[in-house]
Amino acid sequence: MSDYYKILNVSRSSTLAEIKKSYRKLARKYHPDLNPGDKAAEKKFKEITEAYEVLKDPKKKKQYDTFGSTGPNFNSRSKGSDFSGFDFNTTGSSSFGDIFETIFGNFGGGAQRANPRAERPQRGEDLHYSMNISFIDSVKGIEAPIQIFRKEICNDCKGKRIDKNSKKSKCNTCSGTGKVERQTGFMRFESPCTNCGGAGFTPGEKCSTCNGEGRTGQNSKLKVKIPAGVENNSRIRIAGKGNAGTGGGKYGDLIITISVTPHRYFKRNGYNLEIELPITFSEAALGAKIEIPTIEGKTLLKIPPSTNSGQKLRLKDRGIPNPKTSKKGDLLMSVKIVSPPTKDIEVREMLKKIEEKSPYNPREELEW
Ligand SMILES: [Zn+2]
Ligand SMILES: [Zn+2]
Repeated sequence: MSDYYKILNVSRSSTLAEIKKSYRKLARKYHPDLNPGDKAAEKKFKEITEAYEVLKDPKKKKQYDTFGSTGPNFNSRSKGSDFSGFDFNTTGSSSFGDIFETIFGNFGGGAQRANPRAERPQRGEDLHYSMNISFIDSVKGIEAPIQIFRKEICNDCKGKRIDKNSKKSKCNTCSGTGKVERQTGFMRFESPCTNCGGAGFTPGEKCSTCNGEGRTGQNSKLKVKIPAGVENNSRIRIAGKGNAGTGGGKYGDLIITISVTPHRYFKRNGYNLEIELPITFSEAALGAKIEIPTIEGKTLLKIPPSTNSGQKLRLKDRGIPNPKTSKKGDLLMSVKIVSPPTKDIEVREMLKKIEEKSPYNPREELEW
C-alpha cells in the first residue's frame, strides 16, 4: 500500500493547509491535461489525487493513520469488514469537480469546466511563406499581395465544433452524471467521464463543414509590407496572420522568408551599394560629368581629372536603408577604365599622336 504522506510530500504532522498546498502544487505539475499522452504523469496524478482524497478528510485520515501505511491489516481482504461503510462517495459532491475548480478555477467559464479538454484555448499554428523579390524591391521596400492557405474559424459553427442544428444528448457512458467510479483496493474513487469530458452530455453532432475542428482551410489574400533594406534570407514575422486558434485561442503568426534575386550590377555590402563604374580613358584623364545609375534613378557624377582604374568614388546616403533606423549607407563606385574601339585607322593615328605628345611611363614605380 502506498504511503500517502510520501506521495504528497508532507509529513504526518503537516496541517490541512500544508497538505492542500502541496497537493495543488503536485496536481498542477502532473495533471493529464497539462501532460497529454504522458502515462507516467497520469499515474502520478491518480496517486496524488488518491492520497489527497484521504488526507484532506479528517475522518479518513484518522482511519488511515490508525492502520498505518504498511500495516499488515491495511491490505488484508480478510479484514475487509473493518472497512464496511467506508465509502468515499458518501462525502457527497464530486471530488473531481472540487479538484478541477481548485486547479483550474481561474480559467472560468462553465463551458470550459464542462469539457475542459476540448475547450482549452489553443493558439493557432504559425504559417511559413517564401517570397522572391527583386534586388531593387529589397532596397526600396515593397507592398506585395500574397495568397496563403490558412485555417480560419469555421463560419458554420463559429469555431464551436458542433453542428448548430444538433442537440445535446445525455452521455451513455456515465448516464449523464459526468463521473465514472473506479475501484482501487478497498476504496472507490470518482473520476470524470472520458467520453463526455465530465460534462454529462455529448454536445451534439460535430459540425460537418469543419469536420468538428472548428476551423476550415481557406485561401486568404493579404498584402504584406516588406520593409526597405531587407537582406536575402531574412525572415519577417507578421503577427496574427497564421492559422486561427481553437477554443478561442489566438491566431498564429505568418513568417515570410525573403529571397532576393541578385542584381545585374548593383551589389550589396552591408548597407552600402557597390558598382563597378566603366569610364573612357579620356573621361578618366580629363575629368567629366557622367550619368550614373542609383536606386532612385539616374544622377550626375563628377569624375575628377586624372582618375585611375580601381579608384573608389563615393556618393553619400545613396546606399541601402537599415530597416530599423532607416539610415542609409553609401553608393560606392569602383572605377574601371575601358579602352575605346580602335578599328578605325584615324582613331589609331590620333591615339599615337597623344602618346607622342605626352610621353610618360605608367610603370615608373615598377622600375628596378
Ligand atoms: Zn464548423
Ligand atoms: Zn459521460
